[in-house]
Amino acid sequence: IEQTAYQNDKLAMLGKISAAIAHEIRNPLTSIRGFIQLLHKDLVKLNKQQYGDIILSEIDRANNIIHEFLNSSKPTSPVKQDVTVNSLLREIVLLSESEAMLKGCILENVPSRHDLHLWVDVKQIKQVLLNIVKNALDAISYNIGKPGKIKIQSRASDQAAIISIKDNGPGMDQKTLAKLFEPFFTTKESGTGLGLSVCYRIIRNHGGAIHVTSSLGEGTEFIIKLPMKESAPIQEKHRKVFVQ
Ligand code: ADP
Repeated sequence: IEQTAYQNDKLAMLGKISAAIAHEIRNPLTSIRGFIQLLHKDLVKLNKQQYGDIILSEIDRANNIIHEFLNSSKPTSPVKQDVTVNSLLREIVLLSESEAMLKGCILENVPSRHDLHLWVDVKQIKQVLLNIVKNALDAISYNIGKPGKIKIQSRASDQAAIISIKDNGPGMDQKTLAKLFEPFFTTKESGTGLGLSVCYRIIRNHGGAIHVTSSLGEGTEFIIKLPMKESAPIQEKHRKVFVQ
C-alpha cells in the first residue's frame, strides 16, 4: 500500500509540474505566434523592429524556462570544495558590475574582516548569489528619482556565515513576499519565477537557510546563512519570511 501511495504521490507531483510547465511555455509561444501572424500579414511595417524584439525575448523566455527547469530538476549531489565568502562575493560583484554600471547602480561590497571558509558546491552557491543580485538589479530599475544601491556584506555568527544582499528598490508587498519562493511565481513580464525556488533548494541542500525582509518603498534584504566549514548544518525547519 505504501508503495502505491508513494507512486501516486509521484504521479500527482509530475502532473502538477507538467501542467505548470505547459502553462508557462504556452504563454510565450502564443504571443510569438500572434506577432508572427501580424508580420506575415505585413500590417505593421513601422513596428517590425519592435515586434521582432518581442519575438526574440519571448523565445529567450521559453528557452530560459526549459533551461532553468532542467537545471532545477537534476538530482543535486553537490560537489563540495573549500572556498572563502570574501572570494565568492568578489567574483559575484565582478560578474554583476557591468550591468550595475549600465543601470547607474552603486554596487558596494564590504568584505568581512576574517576569511570565512565554506565547504560548498561553488557553482551552485554562485548561482544563488548571482540570482539574488540579478533580482536586486531588476528591482532598482523601478526606482524613480533615486539612484539604485546594492550593498553586499558578510559576517560570522556562531558556526555560520551570514551573507546579506540589500537593495534600495521598491520592496515587496505581503502577497509577493508570501509567494516568493514558489516555483513559477513571478511579477516580471519575462520572468520565469524559477530563480528563487532553485536558490531556496540549493541553500537547504547545503544545510543553510534563506531569509527575506522587505519594506515597500525602502528596499529588500536577502540573508543567506551557510554553515562554515566543519560545522553542523543549521537546525531550522522553516524559512522565515516577514515584512519589517
Ligand atoms: P523571476 O526573477 O523570474 O521573477 P524569482 O524566483 O527570482 O523569479 O523571483 C520571484 C519574484 O520575487 C520576482 O518576480 C519579484 O516579484 C520578487 N523579487 C525577488 N527579488 C526581489 C527584490 N530584490 N526586490 C523586489 N522584488 C523581488
